[in-house]
Amino acid sequence: MGVEDWLAGYDTNDLCIATAASHSSLQIFHGAKKLGFRTMAIIAGDRDLRYYDAFPEAKPDTVLRLDSYHDLIDLAPELRAQNVVIIPHGSLIEYMGAKDFTAIEVPVYGNRHVLDFESHRGKERAWLEEAGITMPREITDPKDIVEPVIVKYHGAKGGKGFFIAKNYHEYKRQIQEGEPHTIQEFVMGTRYYLHYFHSRIEEGGFRLEGDDGPLGDLQMLSIDRRDESNIDELNRIGSIKELQEAGIDPQFVVTGNIPMVIRESLLPKVFQMGEGVVRESYKRFGGLWGPFCLETIVTPDLEFKVFEISARIVAGTNPFIQGSPYSEMVEPGLSTGKRIAQDLHKAAGQGTLGLVCT
Ligand code: ATP
Repeated sequence: MGVEDWLAGYDTNDLCIATAASHSSLQIFHGAKKLGFRTMAIIAGDRDLRYYDAFPEAKPDTVLRLDSYHDLIDLAPELRAQNVVIIPHGSLIEYMGAKDFTAIEVPVYGNRHVLDFESHRGKERAWLEEAGITMPREITDPKDIVEPVIVKYHGAKGGKGFFIAKNYHEYKRQIQEGEPHTIQEFVMGTRYYLHYFHSRIEEGGFRLEGDDGPLGDLQMLSIDRRDESNIDELNRIGSIKELQEAGIDPQFVVTGNIPMVIRESLLPKVFQMGEGVVRESYKRFGGLWGPFCLETIVTPDLEFKVFEISARIVAGTNPFIQGSPYSEMVEPGLSTGKRIAQDLHKAAGQGTLGLVCT
């Protein structure tokens, strides 16, 4: 059984858009409601969801309360009976784990198999570098640390526990022995998180050509910068050196998002990077479509270094529920959540849901 079999039993005029009640769910529901879809919030545990009452334009029609997100696996037949399409976001994947999420027998918008590539650092790097992207250098032996590096624990989310070291001594002082981690060049520059959208079923706009013919189009809907605590505010109370002497280390935990625009002269490169990533994704695992984000740092030489890809909607799109300076030039008031709903609406209308869901 696969997505085409599940969709065969669907009333595609009555789809229900479901996602976990967190992250970008307000935006996803808001967009889905604009296109006339039914909506369902999924929540595990007893977390209070009354905040939805405060946002009637985004409030989901129903709430599915579970003991654990893993229960979704057993509930698949019931969800299919309600014509549910799941929109993945970072929190849902984190709560369920990549393996269980991939196993849900319910149509998921986007290519769920991208998770194999995204959650495996080696595969992700090979994919992006082959796509023409420059990534921060990796240091395999900590004794080789001679310039600032950022140390990232595997599986840590939202930058938790990451630290900066400028030499082996600083690395030794901070490392949690036995915890798997990657040591990466700390790229000096400004951060831009680029929010792309690739539709496989749209023909106009910025068109993508694959080796075997057209792939659809590519949009860049918005850009944000993450507000990270406490690194982004440390300079207000002293130099990093002074703070470290006082036992205060910089941390990278995301607390919010700030809207950004980028120098217009960098846009050709922005599209070139997005195009390369999508084209290469079709060669490696059948394609990356829907929303995705390249997390970049622009150096003083105006070069992009990409330290991560998120292969789905990112919370950095949340400042743009009413549209962004870029999406305004695509369609007034277009959010990423609404763009997802449009893609599903078009696919449902022309009988190609199996092309946009897996
Ligand atoms: P998420 O999964 O939420 O994207 P994560 O835990 O995978 O987060 P990263 O996004 O890789 O973590 O990094 C967290 C933060 O650390 C970034 O937002 C950025 O501020 C900083 N950072 C990451 N890599 C680098 C780098 N090579 N140079 C400088 N800063 C970096």
